[in-house]
Amino acid sequence: MRSRLRSDWWFSCRGRFGALLALIVAATVACRNSAAVDGPRDEKAAATNGNGPSDSQEKADEGTAKNAAKYVTESLRGRVVFAAEATARRLGVKSVDEAAERILALEAPDGTLYPLIEDVRARAFRADKTLREFDVELLVRKHEGTPMRQVIGVYALKKDGKYEVDYWCDVCAIAMFELKPCECCQAMNYLRLRKVAE
Ligand SMILES: [Zn+2]
Repeated sequence: MRSRLRSDWWFSCRGRFGALLALIVAATVACRNSAAVDGPRDEKAAATNGNGPSDSQEKADEGTAKNAAKYVTESLRGRVVFAAEATARRLGVKSVDEAAERILALEAPDGTLYPLIEDVRARAFRADKTLREFDVELLVRKHEGTPMRQVIGVYALKKDGKYEVDYWCDVCAIAMFELKPCECCQAMNYLRLRKVAE
């Protein structure tokens, strides 16, 4: 009898604990989502720093890197392409058809291909063909142990200078990383280019 009471108590506590845990998870997810919406504004800080990140940018990055992953930050110029098309054109090595649009890469003027980790920032180049027609400068992280680059800033290079690239919704006045319906009002966002002071 006593053990039965104990087990009832245990299950009831577990139920309450589970509900509390679910609340905490929900709150964390909500916060993360709003942080993602604010994301491109963070890039503004990087943009104002010119070609390379400043010490303060580096320190901020280190602070947010949870597992203290080892990486170096660098700027690369070129055009973003699908790797399969570039390797066929440059090396004469044809990929299988199903790999045609599998990997995005930055193609430097010397022909070097830098494969991109396709997170939401890099996916912008898949979502909007216009971006693949720009000469770009990418602010990237090269993590230890992989040739892949993580995109943390996108700039279009034009005759009259460098422009920060993001996507904007006029109604909600929020910036997003890629071409898509606005995260808030669902109206289509649009490509926004803002000149970087050099
Ligand atoms: Zn909107």
